[in-house]
This record gives sequence, C-alpha cells and structure tokens, in this order.
Amino acid sequence: MPVSYAELRCRLASKEAELSTQLQDIQREVREEGVGYSNHMADVGTEVFEQARDIGLANQLAASHRLVKQALEKFEDGTYGICESCGVRIELARLEVVPEARLCFDCQSRLEHRR
Ligand SMILES: [Zn+2]
Repeated sequence: MPVSYAELRCRLASKEAELSTQLQDIQREVREEGVGYSNHMADVGTEVFEQARDIGLANQLAASHRLVKQALEKFEDGTYGICESCGVRIELARLEVVPEARLCFDCQSRLEHRR
C-alpha cells in the first residue's frame, strides 16, 4: 500500500516542527557561546572553532527547514509532488523516502551528474 499525500503532509508537518525546535536551540547556543568571554587565549581558539561548527550546523538545519516549509506550502498551491523541472508527478516511492523532494528522480540525477 503506497503512502498517501495526506500522510506525507503529516510527516512533513512534524518534521517542520522538529527542525524548527532544533534550529532555535542551536541559534540560542551560538548566541550564548559568543566569543570573547574567556580570559585564556587557548580557550578562545576552541570557542571560535566550536562556534564555527555550530554555525555550520545551524545553516544546514536552516536549509532543510526551508525545504520542508516550501514542500508544505506546495500543498496549499496544489503543486506538491510535481517535479519543478519537468512537471511530471514525482513517484510516491521517492516521496516516501524524501517527502521534501522538489524534483523527480530523473531530473535530480541529471542535476547531480552535471555537478
Ligand atoms: Zn523532472
């Protein structure tokens, strides 16, 4: 029994909530860690490193959060599950694995091969 769009929407909504909580946590951490509170130069180096790592993670989270939100918005437009590049319906099997997919399998692999 293939997954339904309603089920996918439900999964995306909970993923969106989860990502948004994680994003808030990490953004708070990045702010609180703030560089410059330490008296030791060596610690400053470590803090800078840790902050850079957190910011990288925050950016990754923000990017996935954006994708999930865009997918949810497409339900409103009625364009969910349609390939942005060629306009075919994205296979349900693919959406089940990657509910926020914007491209069908063919377009996605063409894009990846071009890189
Ligand atoms: Zn396509």
